[in-house]
Amino acid sequence: MERTLVILKPCTIQRGLTGEIIARFEKKGLILEGMKMTWLTDEILSEHYAHLKERSFFQRVKDAMAVCPVIVCCWKGVDAVNVVRTLAGATNGRNAAPGTIRGDYSMSVQENIVHASDSPETAAIELKRFFNEDELFSYETKNLLSLYANDEF
Ligand code: UDP
Ligand code: MG
Repeated sequence: MERTLVILKPCTIQRGLTGEIIARFEKKGLILEGMKMTWLTDEILSEHYAHLKERSFFQRVKDAMAVCPVIVCCWKGVDAVNVVRTLAGATNGRNAAPGTIRGDYSMSVQENIVHASDSPETAAIELKRFFNEDELFSYETKNLLSLYANDEF
């Protein structure tokens, strides 16, 4: 099983979509192992979006992530990183396929509802960035055999 990080961006909080978006991950069968509301600082956003630091929109993207608190989540599942990226859809909400989160809820490249880690290595780094160890929980999930065959997990 893999863990991945999802951030419900300020646009999601502002539009009152928090419950709906969390429900998408729950209904898929991902297991919630951490969740908290936090107001991101420019410092942590500079680290998080370091891959964009040469881009003209770097500061704009960081500022948009600090408009209000966000909700950070840790989801677990087999291939969770890929599953969550597929659920999220293409970065630009206008190009994202219908049925994906961004395809269903976003008209924007920037205001695109969620952040989702893009590889298992990134997920491990990002989970450490946003969660303390005691904020992530491993626990027995009673419905595992309803989610997977016994040789899948
Ligand atoms: N972004 C933007 N304009 C762009 C590319 C990215 O505003 O041309 C924002 C957008 O909010 C995106 C974030 O920067 O989600 C991180 O970009 P990345 O390429 O990592 O996309 P993601 O992994 O979120 O799909
Ligand atoms: Mg990315």
